Amino acid sequence: MTREHLIKPLLSAHYPKIDYGKGVFLYDEHGKAYLDASSGAVTAGIGHGVQEVIDAMLAQAQKVSFVYRSQFTSEPAERLAKRLSDLAPGHDYWSFFVNSGSEATETAMKIAIQYWQEQGRLGKNKVISRRMSYHGITLGALSMSGHVTRRRRFIPLLEELPIVAAPYCYRCPYQLSAASCGQSCADDLETNIKRIGADHIAAFIAEPIIGAAGGAVVPPAGYYERIKAICEQYDILFIADEVMTGIARTGTMFGMEHWGVEPDLIALGKGLSAGYTPIAATLVKDRVMEPILAGSQIVMSGHTFSANPQSAATALAVLDYIAARQLVDAAEEKGRYLRQKLERIAANRAIIGDVRGKGLLLGLEFVADRASKRIFPVSLGVTTRLVERAQSKGLLVYPAAGGVDGEGDAVIVAPPLVITTEEIDLLASLLEESIAEVMGEVMG
Ligand code: PMP
Repeated sequence: MTREHLIKPLLSAHYPKIDYGKGVFLYDEHGKAYLDASSGAVTAGIGHGVQEVIDAMLAQAQKVSFVYRSQFTSEPAERLAKRLSDLAPGHDYWSFFVNSGSEATETAMKIAIQYWQEQGRLGKNKVISRRMSYHGITLGALSMSGHVTRRRRFIPLLEELPIVAAPYCYRCPYQLSAASCGQSCADDLETNIKRIGADHIAAFIAEPIIGAAGGAVVPPAGYYERIKAICEQYDILFIADEVMTGIARTGTMFGMEHWGVEPDLIALGKGLSAGYTPIAATLVKDRVMEPILAGSQIVMSGHTFSANPQSAATALAVLDYIAARQLVDAAEEKGRYLRQKLERIAANRAIIGDVRGKGLLLGLEFVADRASKRIFPVSLGVTTRLVERAQSKGLLVYPAAGGVDGEGDAVIVAPPLVITTEEIDLLASLLEESIAEVMGEVMG
């Protein structure tokens, strides 16, 4: 094998070298165009090469890009924190800025534990989470994640597997139907709280819509209302991991708005800067800050690049762009159009078992047999085949782990919110071609 220097996801694989991006397209060094229907990793929410954001980045760079948070604050960082508080469900949030979604969820975990410590409740130090979840790759975040393949190598360093049932209606863990539902999966939170003891639990964390570990899995009606009520009843903080769903992606600014629930802490990342610079945030409800303000006065976390003015100014420019272009509404409207297209493809292609999601966070789950929902053997690598086939045709979709505990096949379709209907038509035709070819190979 030839020696190189860049560690790529799969070392033996060839990755096209990207040259530039504009709107929903990326162009490689040979001029090949890729319709970015995954927004990278559900990140490039406003598309590539937006001049307004580039101008704002340049203007900030000409002033100052970096100051250390232990020495200075900055106008962009303060303004961004205020802006996020105004946008978040129920308002009154403080922001702790970090660099990645993993850091945002891990910071939320630490702040939740600290909240109880400040009140002398030292035993409340576990954060419980669901199966089929992904909260990040660093060890704290991975501990909370039920993404089986990403955990596997590090099991000795992690908490026991996340335990609460996933709200996965397509393969209901309780074999219930929409009519018989009753949110047994939400009640599983209560069962686990009783088993572990509320005195040992600081918080419960969940993605509003399951992303990488499920493929845009939406919970049943009433689920989050029930979850929030259980958390309140047992004195447990509720952390919404909105790293993927946050910032307009699902047709609301925050995913949790679909259910009218105000989380105690919120993790944001990805769409916050739309990929223009790394920035992520942990939002902390005012009442959660109170014991810390009255106590140690220090949130015990921080990274060198936390709250740097360059990234804060970039995120502000992204939020301005989203507001000016009304991209929250666009996500809802374009999402409805794209979903219809996906449903039409599903009607023709038996390999698609489920079409799901909200706004422009949509998912397709693939099955070997639609009636029994039988999954494909892992050795067929259906998800990888599809992602690679689509990429060869100039279409990017995001591989997700479908099926219970990730042994099935799913992709996420989540283009930038600026996508036009013509571009959605192109997306759908490239996707259908790719699906038809892969279906021919794996279903005969
Ligand atoms: N939480 C969720 C819901 C995510 O989708 C991701 C990234 N896929 C993360 C956390 C981790 O974010 P990052 O990769 O920026 O660390």
